[in-house]
Amino acid sequence: NKKNKHGISFYSKEQDIYHEGRLTLMSNLRQDLADDRLELFYQPKLASTTGRVVGMEALIRWNHQQLGFIPPDEFILLAEETGVISQLTRWVINRALSDFVQFRAEGYEGDISINISARNLSESDLPGYLTSKLSEYQIPANKVILELTETAVMEDPESGIVALNALTDTGINLSIDDFGAGYSSLSYLKRLPATEIKLDRSLITDILSSESDRVIVQTSIDMAHNLGYDLVAEGVETQEVLDLLTSMKCDKIQGYHLSRPLDREAMSAWLEEALNTACENN
Ligand code: C2E
Ligand code: MG
Ligand code: MG
Ligand code: MG
Repeated sequence: NKKNKHGISFYSKEQDIYHEGRLTLMSNLRQDLADDRLELFYQPKLASTTGRVVGMEALIRWNHQQLGFIPPDEFILLAEETGVISQLTRWVINRALSDFVQFRAEGYEGDISINISARNLSESDLPGYLTSKLSEYQIPANKVILELTETAVMEDPESGIVALNALTDTGINLSIDDFGAGYSSLSYLKRLPATEIKLDRSLITDILSSESDRVIVQTSIDMAHNLGYDLVAEGVETQEVLDLLTSMKCDKIQGYHLSRPLDREAMSAWLEEALNTACENN
């Protein structure tokens, strides 16, 4: 039995779903969501040519009362398998939009990205939930981007497209996350109502040393532009990679080199600094 550092078995197979540790963990997650004990961190997204902040991505953080910090990659998968993802996504949407109201009041004019999972696409009331939250917080729909991984859409392309159209009919935008990590092609993706593509970190990591990764990235950038998408690179960790991607006409950049994900207070402070710098440069 493979166990992670928290001593909990993680299988991607359904057979292990009744493992007691996983069930306990998921009932803890439900309870902590209900008690508002999770947190959202925010990572800025910058325009590569101007260096201006144009967006931010909400990333969930769970500090389990006994086990401590558990990375989202570990509990999101479980949440998907057990259906807790429905409650989780609603919690994230609500929290992200209410924090967004505060960031906007502080002068932030960019957009906000929220990650959703493939399982959320089968929830027919999700577009309605989004619409009601947008109106509750008086947020223009076109300021909100939902990020969905490429592999998520590929699981069930036909019904996925129908669900994505229902979501984008609310006026929100769609971004294809982790592009290049799976097997889909841009020619398939152009059937999706997306406005943005995020290149997977695995394509960016070795871009300075790997000629083939550079070719793949440049090809993706050019094709994305020809098809009318914005192109974002995630996982930019150095100035050299930032410079290279800018020269390759990559539109937007995210990564530790610009900022790690920050809690709400730290994000407010980061934005204040960024907005002041932008004013001075005018
Ligand atoms: P993602 O949406 O592709 O998010 C990018 C991940 O890369 C984040 O990890 C972020 O902290 C990390 N990252 C950002 N810049 C860099 C960098 O320069 N270098 C490196 N090495 N990593 C960087 P995180 O926060 O651990 O999230 C992992 C994944 O968990 C996310 O991947 C997303 O798929 C999922 N996730 C996170 N929050 C949520 C959420 O609220 N809802 C859903 N459904 N999934 C979420
Ligand atoms: Mg994402
Ligand atoms: Mg990603
Ligand atoms: Mg990812």
